Amino acid sequence: MELICPECKNEIKIENPQDLKKGTILECNTCGITLEVTGVNDEKVDLEIIDEGK
Ligand SMILES: [Zn+2]
Repeated sequence: MELICPECKNEIKIENPQDLKKGTILECNTCGITLEVTGVNDEKVDLEIIDEGK
């Protein structure tokens, strides 16, 4: 599974995609924003930016 950061459009690597679920907090290594998973469907993950970083 790969996710695309909504801020910088770079790929966010998911180490344990099987652990991905609603409420999971992710950080983009490229731009540093923090994202929360707001929903997981079969191949699609909904993300919400909760911290735009520095
Ligand atoms: Zn990013």
